[in-house]
Parts: sequence; C-alpha cells; structure tokens
Amino acid sequence: MDFKTNLKKYAELTLKVGLNLQKGQTLVVNAPLTSADFVRKITKKAYDLGAKNVHVEWHDEELKLLKYKNAPEEAFKEFPEWKAKGFEQMAKDGACFLSISASNPDLLKDVDPKRISTAQKTAAKAMEAFRKYTQNSEVSWAVVSVPTKEWAQKVYPNLNEKESVEKLWESIFSIVRVDKNNPIDEWKKHLSTLKEKVTYLNTKQYKKLHYKAPGTDLTVKLPKNHIWIGGDEANSKGINFVANMPTEEVFTVPIRHSVNGTVTSTKPLNYGGNLIEDFKLTFKDGKITDFSAEKGYETLKNLIETDEGSHYLGEVALVPHNSPISKTDTIFYNTLFDENASCHFAVGSAYPTCVENGAKMDKEELKEKGINVSLTHVDFMIGSNKLDIDGETSDGKIEAVFRKGNWAF
Ligand code: ZN
Ligand code: ZN
Repeated sequence: MDFKTNLKKYAELTLKVGLNLQKGQTLVVNAPLTSADFVRKITKKAYDLGAKNVHVEWHDEELKLLKYKNAPEEAFKEFPEWKAKGFEQMAKDGACFLSISASNPDLLKDVDPKRISTAQKTAAKAMEAFRKYTQNSEVSWAVVSVPTKEWAQKVYPNLNEKESVEKLWESIFSIVRVDKNNPIDEWKKHLSTLKEKVTYLNTKQYKKLHYKAPGTDLTVKLPKNHIWIGGDEANSKGINFVANMPTEEVFTVPIRHSVNGTVTSTKPLNYGGNLIEDFKLTFKDGKITDFSAEKGYETLKNLIETDEGSHYLGEVALVPHNSPISKTDTIFYNTLFDENASCHFAVGSAYPTCVENGAKMDKEELKEKGINVSLTHVDFMIGSNKLDIDGETSDGKIEAVFRKGNWAF
C-alpha cells in the first residue's frame, strides 16, 4: 500500500478510534511544525467528520532549544497564563485533545538539566487545572506519533536519513495496525482482548504483586477497589476514546506507601529531551530511598526531586513481552512506543479513575486513600522475557500473573 493511503488511514483511525470525534465538537491539536503534513490530513478529515473547529497549537524544537540556550533564568519560571486558561476553557466546553509526539530524543543533551526541570515544573503547575480533565478522563484525548528525521536516525542509525524516516513510518503504520485492510475492525478486536485481561484482573482484586527479574525484586500493594484500565475509556459524556495509539497496556494504581524493594530499568527513558539509561530504584514504604543510573543520573535526580509525589509510584502497568511492538525488538527512545512494549511503572501522579469514585476526590482525599499525587507522571520500563509476577489474593493465595514476561492466564 502506498504512503499517502496509509497516512489518510492513520488520520481516520486517530479521529474515529483514538478521539472518537463527535459532530459539532472542537478538536485541539498540539503538534510540532515537523508534523504539518499529518496535521493537515487530520484537520481535513476532522471537518469531514463534522468537527466544528480545529485549533492547532504549533511548537518547534529548534525554538525550544534556542530558548534553553539563550533565555535568562527567569524565563523558565513563567508560563503564559492565557494559554493555560485557554486550554481549560476549551476542555470545559467539551473539546477533544490530540497530541502529536514527535521529538528528537537527544535535543536537550547539552542543556543544564536544572533549567529543564524548572521549565517542566512551571508548565506542569500552570497546566494543573487542565490536566485534571485528561487525567480524570473527563474529556477525550489521544497521543499519536509521527517520525522526525532526528528521531528516525536515533532508532535506525545504520540507515541514511531518508531510509530511516521511511522505515520509522513503516514501523508506526504496522504497530498501529494501519497497514491492515480494516484498521478500525482490527482495533475493535484488539480492544476486546485488552478488556478480557482487565475483567480478569478486576475480578481477582489482587492485594499485592511481587515482581522478580534480574536486578528486580519488588512488592507492590494495590488499594481496595482498585480498577484496572486498558484499551478504551469513556469520557464524562459516556463517549469512548483510546488515549494512546498504540496501546498494549493494562494499568492500575499502587498504594503510595506500600512499595518495597528494588527495580531495574530494561529500556532507556527519554525524559524531556534527555536519555536516562540502565537505572535502578530502591523503595522503602513507597518512597524512593536510593537510585543510580549508568547514564543521565542528573536528569533522573531532577525527575525524582520534582516534588514530594515524584518520590512515589503512581502507575502499575502490565504489557506482555510478546506484544507487537516488543516483537520488533527495537528501542524507540519514545515512551509512547517503549512503554507499550514493556511492563512499566510511573513515578508521580496516579490516574484517579483507577480507584472507585477516584475522579470525584480532591488531592487530599486521594492521598488519604493512598493514591499518589504529583505534578509529574513519567513511565519507565522494567519488563523483559525474564520477568515473573505473582499476585496475592485477599485470602493469601499466590497465583501466577506473568511468567517469562508474558501473561500467565
Ligand atoms: Zn502506562
Ligand atoms: Zn503512564
């Protein structure tokens, strides 16, 4: 199939399955300039499907780098309030939100990590009210990716620039099933498979998970009435959407102060334009008490020290090692892909929808229930074909959940 057809199918899939765009709805797109072609396809298709308005927020990596290198310190402590307010207003009015994740994994490698963490903290604080709409699934939102030259070269260093971009497009089309005859039907099947796992785990209500792999021995307690989520979710109007494309994970929340032991990363983590590699975290009563990294230690340190909540876990996600992305045996240096190829955790905030009535609770109530709250939420990968996970039932029985990196049921 030719590239143009695939690109059109990808836009259609994003709008119909990812966002499930409704007639008369406004679509807000967050996108880098490099994705302009795809954004134009999205926009055309959105109007075809009856969108009222398509609003695009462009950003540019070159400008970002110029700012990090040249702007005075104070610049990173302010965030345009009109922008935060605008997003809040559009969410309140029922818009849906698409983010296009396409970045150069090494963009900020020479920038002082302190500057980056200040900027990220400032943005997170300013956008906190808006983020509630997405974290509580009140509005439909989705993240998809398109290649950039720098990203493609990082993933496929042995190909020339043009070939690497083509290869990355090919991989993305295949991973999101766009290369299939009817991607929308394929997604229906895929979502129902994820639902089976979700239903099984929700019925089991394991009180504890025990992770074992080389460099990993960790126990994670799960709260009473925790909810596993995977595939699609319903927004506050009951419209189903798929927040990540691809998505291969089912996830829930840990009890913030009941994580103990050590976990070792299995893939590099791209955090805000810097890579953190081969790192290890040690937890005591939920808190990260020790950590090390072969590469990107300062970046990891800044991430963990974002606020109090970033010292704790907020997400427990299960992804089989034989998932389609994992089978490509490629490191994508992009969390959207790498997290869907590997079991992972997130440091930082939990999705409140993972506990009964969680979306209605404020920060204090969530904390009281043992659900983590933070300005940040960053997934990191710990899955491999050597990972075993046991689940402990409420009456203390130990059952296999994962064996050698794959579902045991
Ligand atoms: Zn996740
Ligand atoms: Zn996550």
